[in-house]
Amino acid sequence: MFPATTKLGLNKFTDKQENNTGPLAKLYFYYSAMNAGKTTTLLQSSHNYVERGMNTLLLKPKIDDREGEKIIRSRIGLEAESHEFEKNDNLFQEISNQYKNQQLHCVLVDEAQFLSRDQVKELGEVVDRLKIPVLCYGLRTDFLGELFEGSKCLLAWADELREIKTVCYCGKKAIMTVRLNVEGKPVQAGEQIHIGGNESYVSMCRRHFKSSLGFSKD
Ligand SMILES: [Zn+2]
Repeated sequence: MFPATTKLGLNKFTDKQENNTGPLAKLYFYYSAMNAGKTTTLLQSSHNYVERGMNTLLLKPKIDDREGEKIIRSRIGLEAESHEFEKNDNLFQEISNQYKNQQLHCVLVDEAQFLSRDQVKELGEVVDRLKIPVLCYGLRTDFLGELFEGSKCLLAWADELREIKTVCYCGKKAIMTVRLNVEGKPVQAGEQIHIGGNESYVSMCRRHFKSSLGFSKD
């Protein structure tokens, strides 16, 4: 069972709040390439609820066997307490257990590309049956330009799709993610999730994604 998060180390209210609980609750998918500020946006949204005296639940997937930190941390230093879920956890069950104990106003999911197909549907049930808005934040595609399972299902099942934009080095909108090896060279094959590797990721426009992977002559 997840305790609701009530404290965040944030202090600024900037974006327009969507706290439509009840019949107006929706399943949202905020998608982007790497390093676009998804986690920062998630933490800001959670803070907006908390600031109004509402309870949020922050979730992130456990993607390896290590005991993960119970924290969601953004690159610019914001962080908040979160709760990890496993690949086979039933998120509807977990969240409805939580909902029995205290009112929950919003569920926010980081790294939502790693949700399973079933878990995306369970989050849809949280919206439809418990009337709690669910905000999912994740990558649309992997380093080879293929959809992640969670993202594919969210693109299909979410009520609202919102792009979080970032830019390529050329100045155009970056929609793809390139994996760089330790030498800084683009990786052209491999596992979708590489645990414990030393790669880094950069976001690029489609044209530069293709040329970096050798898919085009540019
Ligand atoms: Zn570019």
